[in-house]
Amino acid sequence: MARTQPITCPLCEACCGLLVTVDGDRVQHVEGDPLDPHSQGYLCPKGVALKDLQEDPDRLRQPMRRTPTGWESLSWNEALDAVAGRIRAIQAEHGDDSVAVYLGNPSVHNLGALLYGPELLRGLRTRQRYSATSVDQLPHMLVAHLVFGHQLLMPVPDIDRTDWMLILGANPSVSNGSLMTAPGMDRRLKAIVARGGRVELIDPRRTETARHVTRHHFIRPGTDALLLAAMVQVLFAEDLVSIGRLAPHVDGVAAVGQALSPFSPEAVAPHTGIAADTIRDLARDLAGARTAVVYGRFGVSTQGFGSLCQWLILLLNLLTGRLDAPGGAMLTTPAVDPLGALKLAGRGGHGRWKTRVRGLPEANGELPVAALAEEIRSPGAGRVRALLTVAGNPVLSTPDGRALDAALDDLDLLVSVDPYLNETSRKAHFILPPVGILERPHYDLAFNLLAVRNRARWNDAVLQPAPGALDDGQILSRLHERLARSPRERLEVLARRRLGVDLREGATVRPLGSLIQNEDLPHFLVEGPVGSERVESVFPDRLATRDGRIHAAPDLLMADVVRLEAALKVDHPAEGSLLLIGRRQLRSNNSWMHNAARLMKGGDRCTLLVHPDDARAHGLADGDRARLATAVGEVEVPIEISDSMMRGVLSLPHGFGHDRKGSRLRVAQETPGASLNDLTDASVVDPVAGTAVLNGVPVTRLERAAPR
Ligand code: SF4
Repeated sequence: MARTQPITCPLCEACCGLLVTVDGDRVQHVEGDPLDPHSQGYLCPKGVALKDLQEDPDRLRQPMRRTPTGWESLSWNEALDAVAGRIRAIQAEHGDDSVAVYLGNPSVHNLGALLYGPELLRGLRTRQRYSATSVDQLPHMLVAHLVFGHQLLMPVPDIDRTDWMLILGANPSVSNGSLMTAPGMDRRLKAIVARGGRVELIDPRRTETARHVTRHHFIRPGTDALLLAAMVQVLFAEDLVSIGRLAPHVDGVAAVGQALSPFSPEAVAPHTGIAADTIRDLARDLAGARTAVVYGRFGVSTQGFGSLCQWLILLLNLLTGRLDAPGGAMLTTPAVDPLGALKLAGRGGHGRWKTRVRGLPEANGELPVAALAEEIRSPGAGRVRALLTVAGNPVLSTPDGRALDAALDDLDLLVSVDPYLNETSRKAHFILPPVGILERPHYDLAFNLLAVRNRARWNDAVLQPAPGALDDGQILSRLHERLARSPRERLEVLARRRLGVDLREGATVRPLGSLIQNEDLPHFLVEGPVGSERVESVFPDRLATRDGRIHAAPDLLMADVVRLEAALKVDHPAEGSLLLIGRRQLRSNNSWMHNAARLMKGGDRCTLLVHPDDARAHGLADGDRARLATAVGEVEVPIEISDSMMRGVLSLPHGFGHDRKGSRLRVAQETPGASLNDLTDASVVDPVAGTAVLNGVPVTRLERAAPR
């Protein structure tokens, strides 16, 4: 008999409430949950595709071992014993740091991985830790650590109450918010304008979000930090700094004003492509609006000044009294607080150790993934010889993916906890596939912290997994148990599991589910907008700096202002030069959902967007195939001529490139596309955070290719 179960969609940060109807072990359909006050019935095509994921014949259901004659399946005990034995032997011979770990983005959307991943990392005792963070939001987290004392204290736009919003390098109409959990972004953006407010968008592409904003401004990729610095300069020059309630708690404001004084709007305008008067107006409007917020995401984090961008955004909010204020940049107080009770992440840190080859600094406990290939390939003591990937596909997700792909061949051991034989796990010695998304319970530990409402929602598994199947948390915990270096450590692992955090055998998480239930709305409890009357503000109480102060001018970032000042002296780009940026698509989820047939229908979406003038200059017509090269690689892709692009800027979506031999993603392989990361350069990073520069990559060649 069919039944319908409400769940939180764990596919992206929006955390939509969904209704999943199943009959026996078959998913009948998925729809938005109209009773969820957070998403109000909204869902995107990926949510509907949960059915495809559950029923995908390519999804692995048994552990697999690579043999000279192909893949063979084995039991969980055999697989976990073998993997643990190999890891133990490699660490015993070559040291703890010879084993590296890479955590992919979906692990943050996974309760089991979040509960047990940190435990396993501690058990491995390796400093070779990598994740998708260093190709994404690391600058946000580093700045939060430096300014507020904790990497998770990242302010979120109070979008539903703001009157003025400046968005940089983000496309919330497609992402549904990122580090701003807010489903149905089109509705929320339109509401700002409808209530008499303004939304200003800065992006080298007139994105889908531009349809709902008041004004869109093109900006030359990689120059956002200059624009932001000039806005701060205007605030000081025109006496518009007004911190308000938090002023007595802030240090370093005068030093910021002095350091940024060279960045006048006139000085930065030729670099950014945005007129000085416009920059001045943006700063004045920010200062003058009743409520206002500045928000910047992936596009500004993954550029050469990514850390400065996030710091300057935070400063604009702080200096205009928008930090921790309704309608500004606020902080949630989630029912389960990762900062406190669960201690899922440390406070953060920087430069406590460095990569072996290039000397890039650790940030918040992990190393930049841009360095992973060289850490595997460069000989010498401390070389990475084994890699454990969890829910990740770094061959497609990290810069210079071809180099990493080749480096994987040099590993003594590659283990992938992954449901697919993807472009990375095809090189694995062992693949450990977890149960499907609908076969595990869910509570969003990470993104409730970043939501525009204080919210909590628990759901049980919708479908029963096959007997003996393991979820991600169980896989990681059982591996940790086998890797324990003393009877005491093993006992601790077992005790923790029994005490609560084994999702199917244990107890703690289940009472949590009932704790947050509400009689009228049995599957969720929503306490109201961020900064609702009950939780008006959290600072200074929630500050985590040792002195309880807000550090507006951290040494690390102030020192980098010198590098930004040097950028003012660099010549403007030569006429005809081209820069490459990525783009996100609603029917795509990084690299891993291209095997869902309903998301892939409609033809090849991996197209290169080219401005009409640039197309003409390179002899390209709409629909042509183009050969595109950068310093590290070359791809061929169909082109789409579009005046949505700034002149001199090209855009290719990320996550494609499914033509590598050996993967088993039959739907994805029908329209494989090209990988943006075959063009991005692992040697170019933001030197502060080590984040890869994925936007503003110089193009060395664009020409017509022979049709296929
Ligand atoms: S927007 Fe994100 S959370 Fe909402 S249905 Fe789509 S994938 Fe799921």
